[in-house]
Amino acid sequence: MVKFCLQCKNTFWGGLHCPKCEGEILLLDMAEEENRKYLPELNIDVRPKYFARSSMLLTCFGFIMALPLGAFVFLSGLSNSGNVELWASLGITTIIGVSWGSWIASQKIFNKQMESVDNKKELQLD
Ligand SMILES: [Zn+2]
Repeated sequence: MVKFCLQCKNTFWGGLHCPKCEGEILLLDMAEEENRKYLPELNIDVRPKYFARSSMLLTCFGFIMALPLGAFVFLSGLSNSGNVELWASLGITTIIGVSWGSWIASQKIFNKQMESVDNKKELQLD
């Protein structure tokens, strides 16, 4: 859960009161709709974190799907003809192609999304 302090404009992982400010300043939950209006005022831009997460998921998905897809190409090719070398190389090409393609695609999507992020703010990437 990401929370933020309206006084010092910092973000924190959970907690009830701001650890940086004097006194007991209540932290606001970033996920709540009514607190979203404060997000542009914060020192930290959290959008890169969500962009990075979605492109990471895409890359992961591509790498996971590449193996069964390559195996499928290999096996279905083998059942139609006995050319092991041809279908093995096609299967491996499929695995490499899909993994590499999803990696490049997620990188492109991430860069595209990052264009809308203001560079003057500190980016929260962890
Ligand atoms: Zn604070």
